Amino acid sequence: MKQEQSKKAFLEAQDVFPGGVNSPVRAFKAVGGTPLFIDKAKGAYLYDIDGQEYIDYVLSWGPMILGHAPDPVIAAVQEAVAKGTSYGAPSPLETKLGKLLQERVPYLERLRMVNSGTEATMSAIRVARGVTKRDKIVKFIGCYHGHSDSFLVEAGSGIATFGLPDSPGVPAATASQTISLPYNNIAALKECFEQHGTEIAGVIIEAVAGNMGLIKASEEFIRAIRDLTREYGALFIVDEVMTGFRASYTGAIGLYQVEPDLICLGKVVGGGFPVAAFGGKKVYMDQVAPLGAIYQAGTLSGNPIAMTAGYETVKRLTPDLFQQMLDRVEQLCTGLERLKEKYQIPLQVVSAGTMFGFFFNDHPVCNFEDSKASDHHLFAKVHRLLLEKGIYLAPSQYESNFMSTEHTKEDIDRTLQAFDHVFGEIYG
Ligand SMILES: *Cc1c(COP(=O)(O)O)cnc(C)c1O
Repeated sequence: MKQEQSKKAFLEAQDVFPGGVNSPVRAFKAVGGTPLFIDKAKGAYLYDIDGQEYIDYVLSWGPMILGHAPDPVIAAVQEAVAKGTSYGAPSPLETKLGKLLQERVPYLERLRMVNSGTEATMSAIRVARGVTKRDKIVKFIGCYHGHSDSFLVEAGSGIATFGLPDSPGVPAATASQTISLPYNNIAALKECFEQHGTEIAGVIIEAVAGNMGLIKASEEFIRAIRDLTREYGALFIVDEVMTGFRASYTGAIGLYQVEPDLICLGKVVGGGFPVAAFGGKKVYMDQVAPLGAIYQAGTLSGNPIAMTAGYETVKRLTPDLFQQMLDRVEQLCTGLERLKEKYQIPLQVVSAGTMFGFFFNDHPVCNFEDSKASDHHLFAKVHRLLLEKGIYLAPSQYESNFMSTEHTKEDIDRTLQAFDHVFGEIYG
């Protein structure tokens, strides 16, 4: 694998950006080596500046569900650009995408557009706090909800420990308002509500977690959150920034018979542009300014180019295309299971809709502790060897991988052959 150009570009970038990147995981720290610098992307493929082609399963961390640079979306965006790139005044394009989201995502009686998933979750907990006039937020260990202060919090040992900042720069006072609990643990959740229930503004969760590897919440766990939040008057927030339009046709919430109060969307809804949204029950969302007193705003929110890309992307996601992606995920996962048997590898293959992942672990992975106990050294090795064979997977076992409508059966076959060779090199 040639890397001269990427190496040079990475060095140069390090004189400009901390660590040479504008978002930390891009630096490949978990797997080592040089991150690929990208020249262009089309369909299921990524092309680096050394001129090599890769089958891309990162897809910009989820958004590019129609593959890269889909012709009809690009054409619509080009047309939109010519009409002006930002108005700072309402345009019908916002309502068009908003309505489409209401049609496609359950429980979105009212929503608001923002520019990143971080903004969506940050705003959703502000609504929860504003509505309930309480300060405490419950999150689950290993779930990622963007980089705002309230969410960069780690639990101490034991149950319902008040959070300590996970990052310098997060005020201890803010972190102390976040309670971090183990994922999929109903007893810990119950105990937390028994102790602090009347102070809790909301509970936020990735119902299908994609940021500690891919881990699904149990139906009972999601139901317990709903029951307890209702009993204690707290809001139930589902963070679908990654899972929206992916974990199922109607997102992660489509997998559970449970109604949330607020939902956060991002990634896919912008079709590769900076778009996210938060919304849910009208009684709560109508308390957001200008109707209500809970303040939230954005100069570029509802940007016409971004709205166009989002609309053209979501509109094209039909049940048929979704099924096609599910078939590809199944083909890949079945193939990996076969290789697991062939080489007797401690491997856990997981999928949820168009998302998939794997852990080098003897046991099924149900929470962050399990995920941490996986063999990260082996993952790094496999990742590196696959990259050399033109397969671009997320550069950490804590990240999910994604399928697009452009990945073909042949792409999956080639991917499985690459895995076969790599496992052969390691175990053969
Ligand atoms: C990516 C992600 C976010 C943050 O979104 P950004 O657009 O990166 O700010 C929040 N929550 C979840 C579940 C995510 O996967």
